[in-house]
Amino acid sequence: MNFNVATLPANISANEDWAAATSDMAVVLDGATVRTDTGCTHGPAWYARKLGGAIIGGAGDQSRELADILADAIAEVADMHRSTCDLTHPGTPSAALAIVRVEDDQVRYAVLGDVTIVAEVDGDVRTVSDQRISLTATAERKLADQHPIGSPEKSKAMIAMKHAELAARNVEGGYWIAAADPSAARHAITGSWPAASVRDFAVLTDGAARCVDTFKSLTWPGLLGALRTTGPQFILDYVRQIERHDDRGLRFPRNKASDDATIVYATPARSEPAPVNSLHGSCASSRTTSRRSSSPSLPGG
Ligand SMILES: [Zn+2]
Repeated sequence: MNFNVATLPANISANEDWAAATSDMAVVLDGATVRTDTGCTHGPAWYARKLGGAIIGGAGDQSRELADILADAIAEVADMHRSTCDLTHPGTPSAALAIVRVEDDQVRYAVLGDVTIVAEVDGDVRTVSDQRISLTATAERKLADQHPIGSPEKSKAMIAMKHAELAARNVEGGYWIAAADPSAARHAITGSWPAASVRDFAVLTDGAARCVDTFKSLTWPGLLGALRTTGPQFILDYVRQIERHDDRGLRFPRNKASDDATIVYATPARSEPAPVNSLHGSCASSRTTSRRSSSPSLPGG
């Protein structure tokens, strides 16, 4: 596979998103924002990085199910800080994630939490996303959406929302996410597509997917089309541009003006190498036509 990875932190704070691609796999994590005590000295960026590394380490074995690999990775990271941190704390670090593994004849995926996979399969654009968290703390979320970003009322409402979310985390009837309990992996949304039917796919954290599901500036097919021509960094810049025009969330109510945002875009490797002549041609033209790209602008933006 060819993978193109782009990630942008929301601001000067540590990026709590984490992404990696190997020859046959993409792994994307979004460490959950901390708004309460956690019982952990490490934090969500550490958690996402360690969990991502453990998933990559285990997922290379294609005979194993992705949910089993995820369960083992959650247990492995729990063991890394069990002696220093209180893993029974309701605010213990957690992360939403998606794993996509390209096997000989299947593209296999697992999603836990609100990371989105969008793929063109047999000419149709399909999305896989776990939005169970948005069905929790609905009253608190609605109240938080009524206040502008940066106001004391918003901050207070967001803390109330976080407490309500945490009460529904990794319990029956609530939502499931990678934290300290490996059994959450059983609740991942899993599936596969025949590899030959997949034209391309992208994996997005919610900070990037907001260009479709919050701002509605692009459709999912439009996003995939834009990724083919511009690449993921351009889309992230485009998201930031929209956010700057609505930095208090008055037009598009949301928790944060900007969120950490990550996109991995994947296309199957070409089965035949490009002719050497065409390579010479593109090198020559790049020397003569190289220029800075202009500001992001897409139809409908
Ligand atoms: Zn810890």
